[in-house]
Amino acid sequence: MNGPSPLQQNYERVLARIDRACEAAARAPASVRLLAVSKTFPAADVLALAALGQRAFGENYVQEALDKISACRDERSRDRDDDGGDTRATVADRDAPLEWHFIGPIQSNKTRPIAEHFDWVHSVDREKIARRLADQRPDARGPLQVCVQVNVSGEASKSGVAPGDALALAQACTALPSLQLRGLTAIPEPTDDEALQRRRFAELRRLHGRIRSELPADAVRHFDTLSMGMSADLESAIAEGATIVRIGTALFGRRRPLRADRVKGQG
Ligand SMILES: *Cc1c(COP(=O)(O)O)cnc(C)c1O
Repeated sequence: MNGPSPLQQNYERVLARIDRACEAAARAPASVRLLAVSKTFPAADVLALAALGQRAFGENYVQEALDKISACRDERSRDRDDDGGDTRATVADRDAPLEWHFIGPIQSNKTRPIAEHFDWVHSVDREKIARRLADQRPDARGPLQVCVQVNVSGEASKSGVAPGDALALAQACTALPSLQLRGLTAIPEPTDDEALQRRRFAELRRLHGRIRSELPADAVRHFDTLSMGMSADLESAIAEGATIVRIGTALFGRRRPLRADRVKGQG
């Protein structure tokens, strides 16, 4: 018998980190979802993690993601056709659809494939992008789940709307019926200073509370998400109320740099 693969060991370690952080913060483990950030890693790694029970995957680059989404769909439907021997429960579990989250910067000419192929978008940072995603969302897929990305690091980061403009953007999203506004995202500047990590995440949490108090009642119900925390700072994020942590390196290992020619046309 082989032991658990490195990916399985990483997965178990990350789930244990999330559990410990929840315990330390007196939060229920089920209140934090793990988003596995699979950018630059192959469909085979996604499928391996899916076989262990992981459902939600995050991607940053449109073309890479589309290729991976369709490869995973093909492979999973082939597996289903091949296999009659499982119990009903495991089949139901394994066949649960994967959930794809777009977490990268969005160029306006790339909104259509994002609207068509993703379940969530974490990186809405201007109204033009929100409107295009809404216009291009196929009715049959139901509303696209979106978070407004906020720049809580000021000068140190360029992506995300300024905190003072987040409410207006959130309100614009709630006015678009094919979007479902779910919450806020932050990617603070990387730092080992735990107090600074906590301050940035706390800022997003407080902003979430303020925006929540301004939204129309029917929008408040769904405004339940704080997408914050990555491999290096998930404990701080969970301590400050993260409901989705976006984890790449701690699951899949170090990313190989993308080739420059692939990066250029993507976003
Ligand atoms: C790559 C990426 C992550 C994952 O970061 P790790 O440090 O590898 O866990 C999370 N969020 C976003 C927006 C990313 O681009």
